[in-house]
Amino acid sequence: MNEITLHGIAAAPGIVMGRAFVYKKHIPRIEEKAIPPEDVKKEIERLRDAVSRSEKELQKILSFAEQKIGNSKAKIFEAQIMILNDAVLFDSIYKRIEKERKNAEFVVHGEIAKYQQLMLNSSDEYMRERAHDVEDIKNRIIRNIQEQKLISRFEGGSVVVSQSLTPADTILFSRNDILGYATDMGGVTSHTALLSRSLKIPAVVGLKDITSHAAPDDFMILDGYAGVIVINPTEETIANYKRRSREMAKFEHRLNELRDLPAVTADGKEIELSSNIEFAEEMRFTKSQGSHGVGLYRAEGLLIGRDTFPSEEEQYREYKSIAEKAFPNKVIMRTFDIGGDKVISQSYEEENPFLGWRGIRVALDRPETFITQMRAILRASTKKNIWVMFPMVSSLREVREAKELVFQAKASLRAEKHSFDDGLKIGVMIEVPSAAVLAGEIATEVDFLSIGTNDLIQYLLAVDRGNDIVSQLYQEFEPAVLRTIRHIIKEAHKHKIPVGMCGEMAGEPVATVLLLGLGLDEFSVIPTVLPEIKKIIRSVTVKEAQKIAAKALTFSTVKEVKEFLVGQ
Ligand code: PEP
Ligand code: MG
Repeated sequence: MNEITLHGIAAAPGIVMGRAFVYKKHIPRIEEKAIPPEDVKKEIERLRDAVSRSEKELQKILSFAEQKIGNSKAKIFEAQIMILNDAVLFDSIYKRIEKERKNAEFVVHGEIAKYQQLMLNSSDEYMRERAHDVEDIKNRIIRNIQEQKLISRFEGGSVVVSQSLTPADTILFSRNDILGYATDMGGVTSHTALLSRSLKIPAVVGLKDITSHAAPDDFMILDGYAGVIVINPTEETIANYKRRSREMAKFEHRLNELRDLPAVTADGKEIELSSNIEFAEEMRFTKSQGSHGVGLYRAEGLLIGRDTFPSEEEQYREYKSIAEKAFPNKVIMRTFDIGGDKVISQSYEEENPFLGWRGIRVALDRPETFITQMRAILRASTKKNIWVMFPMVSSLREVREAKELVFQAKASLRAEKHSFDDGLKIGVMIEVPSAAVLAGEIATEVDFLSIGTNDLIQYLLAVDRGNDIVSQLYQEFEPAVLRTIRHIIKEAHKHKIPVGMCGEMAGEPVATVLLLGLGLDEFSVIPTVLPEIKKIIRSVTVKEAQKIAAKALTFSTVKEVKEFLVGQ
């Protein structure tokens, strides 16, 4: 059997190994049936019973959730119970059964689906998320009408693999002493992610197609730190993960002490250690991991599931909330990076989206959208803890044009007597090779640089970051990558501006000492790896790191670089 590695989103930390329990959700079959007039009362009774059974189930889940994750987080289930008690909704369902003489599940499905559609059409992200809760309620009632059993007990000690998990599934399954959750769907702020973190169950979500790769009882490794699943791992992979798991367990143990300690090298150089986020809701988790602030806020989270750009007001509220949560630390906000693999509803297909209309290119072609976003960012900047940066810059012209638009945004705000941080720091992401070559010139135009290795590596090595066939070639330790990073840092420092890294390489423990030695000022990483990176930073002196970096840069193959760094 071949080893298969799948990458998703690290939702809850921990490394576990075990057999897969592939959970297929019961999707109720809904048939439309006519009910004879004499049976209408019975049909209504059938529905009342089902609603009451559903409520009992939810009450049980609620009290279990309260014990396990606390009252405030268990409130999701209270909200579901409230829907079951919604008199307006159920009155119309009962009336329709009476009038149309149709079977209960058909009417329940139709009425609740209408409700759900209204929520899905809402411009409010929160309401759209709640539409999934309503789906859960609908399926719960229909299952109870059809008198199907609730699956909640199964063999413990397995990794639950599923397309998606409802909050109720996530809580209920946790009673079975399960090892972890792996789902096709979901993001960092999905219920599965939030609840599994609270339940301390390692989880990887957003795997896209794990349900088509994993068969029941397949042995697998789930790495909730890196967001990786390995199905049918080789002995060697198992040994590697066991080692990593032991190391991480030790780190976890020290997490509490580490959280409040600064990210400072053994000889006292302060390093900024911040995190990458996409939603305001992630701030709490990020802080609990000991973050100094946000080194990359991916604003595209605001665009998910919608065709139009959010208004200035909506953006302002979101940015303000993040800045307030991070205060007194800073947040580096990236202007919309759309195109490539990022969300946008396009009216045409691009042959090569990664080389197409992306990032700053879209912003400069649509200045009104960019100015709206800049106005929202500036208005949210009154506490002076927001910096802004532009993605996918490939020339100096783009930097100058974008700065000119920021200038215009400021002028319009000034004219309207809005307050904002006039000294708002402006930076550029270095993620296109031409920008790396021109790092020095770009540095003369801006206040800071941030290296986006995810894209920089793909463009420098001409390897599509999402293409499994060439994934072996996507190597952060390629000497060409390391020398490019060295060049960018040197150029930034020559012009006396700080330089950070927000690509995933910043969160790669093997790279930490090397990057420190090259002089990187800021590491922005996914929150789950923060403690590990902090621990490494605190363990070396700048001199030692410089020596290691200098040596690592002398090698000419990935293998040599890696062997050297791992051996340190
Ligand atoms: C990067 O390219 O390194 C980066 C941080 O941006 P994204 O992954 O969002 O493209
Ligand atoms: Mg990028």
